[in-house]
Amino acid sequence: MDIFSPLAERFAAVEERILNACARAGRRREEVTLLAVTKIFPAQAILDAYALGLREFGENYVQEFETKAPEVIGLPGARFHLIGHLQSNKSRKGAELFDVIQTVDSVKLAHRLAETGKPMEVMIEVKLSEEESKHGSAPADVPALVDAIRALPALTLKGLMTMPPWSDNPEVARPYFRTLRDLAGRVGVDGLSMGMSNDLEVAIEEGSTMVRVGTALFGRRQKPA
Ligand SMILES: *Cc1c(COP(=O)(O)O)cnc(C)c1O
Repeated sequence: MDIFSPLAERFAAVEERILNACARAGRRREEVTLLAVTKIFPAQAILDAYALGLREFGENYVQEFETKAPEVIGLPGARFHLIGHLQSNKSRKGAELFDVIQTVDSVKLAHRLAETGKPMEVMIEVKLSEEESKHGSAPADVPALVDAIRALPALTLKGLMTMPPWSDNPEVARPYFRTLRDLAGRVGVDGLSMGMSNDLEVAIEEGSTMVRVGTALFGRRQKPA
């Protein structure tokens, strides 16, 4: 991979944003994982990002990733996160393809994943805004879901994930990020998957341990057909 490629330049710019945000927040760069979100892009985008050193990848759709998986699964050190909603009837396929499911939002789904027997990492998707996201656990249900997941030996709970309502103004997301951090503190989990291309600085200031970045790395996505 050419270090002057558009992807390499965008990756460098994202790294600089993360570094600056960490410096402002008095945090170490190693506390924040950059998850490269490759939905809609072909498998080659994953291979190109891998060649530049990225190792954590996020995909939204089980079916879409199934078509890319043969080209990318098995890359040494690469890990694949499902960051889109997982329907219970696709849980087996999801467990097979992904290393981390960030969108566990019900006890039922946790049980379905555990039934596959595959050891896997999970996060709980929390729905903090009424209108925007259809999926995610209500904050009030999170403590019971945490207990249910901790009782399942196949699943390791790594943290909470959320997606605030979209806005041009990253400050709009701040209270959502803060709420997620407070909730994580109350249930005793460390990982916070929050922050995307337009608001990763605010997320890092509010304690994010994983920013999920698509557009700022790969450019604008075409709408799925
Ligand atoms: C698409 C997506 C992202 C990445 O969004 P960008 O704005 O392109 O960085 C992050 N998280 C989730 C859940 C997504 O669906």
